[in-house]
Amino acid sequence: MHILLVEDDPLLGDGLRAALDKAGFKVIWAKDGGMALNLLQTHDYAAMVLDIGLPVLDGMEVLRQMRAGGNRLPVLMLTARDTTRDKVLALDRGADDYLVKTAEMEELIARVRALVRRSAGGRAGALVVGNLKLDLTAHTVTMDDQAIGLSTCEFAVLRALLEGSGRVLTRSQLEDVLYGWKKNVDSNALEVHIHHLRHKLGQDVIKTVRGIGYTIARPTS
Ligand code: CA
Repeated sequence: MHILLVEDDPLLGDGLRAALDKAGFKVIWAKDGGMALNLLQTHDYAAMVLDIGLPVLDGMEVLRQMRAGGNRLPVLMLTARDTTRDKVLALDRGADDYLVKTAEMEELIARVRALVRRSAGGRAGALVVGNLKLDLTAHTVTMDDQAIGLSTCEFAVLRALLEGSGRVLTRSQLEDVLYGWKKNVDSNALEVHIHHLRHKLGQDVIKTVRGIGYTIARPTS
């Protein structure tokens, strides 16, 4: 299974390649954005690990161009800075996931595996629980086939809940989805997004598990 790694830093790239290689992936390494776009034309990959800061074309531009060209390859974006702005921008440009560079390699491997699994399993590119459907490709949410407009953060929270359907997600897991880890965030930001989601989807779609976090309610019928 081939992974396209796009990273200009030789040390970090070497580390990433070694870790992905050890995890059983075959790594093709592009060291600038132009080379990444060329390699996208010539090979098929299971996923792409894309640094934001790159020579020739930066990662955001690579992502923008490939999505504009209709390429739906799952992309894990690497951000140097732990800022919400970078992450939201990456998601807006069509990244499937993002990771701060200070994260552990095991976390990166787990995220890449999840991306590959998701794209292989979710052929329709949709997460469905009961009458609620989240389309990962079109970035839309419908309930009983009625479109529901969500913000980027609301979409990310709902996506995590649907992907973890049947499990309880902790507050910190959901905050990671929004802001990355190893960072203290505004203590009630998550509650605000949950509140808005409940307002839009109905009060009983997301259940609070006291002292732990949240879970998506399984349909009773
Ligand atoms: Ca870089």
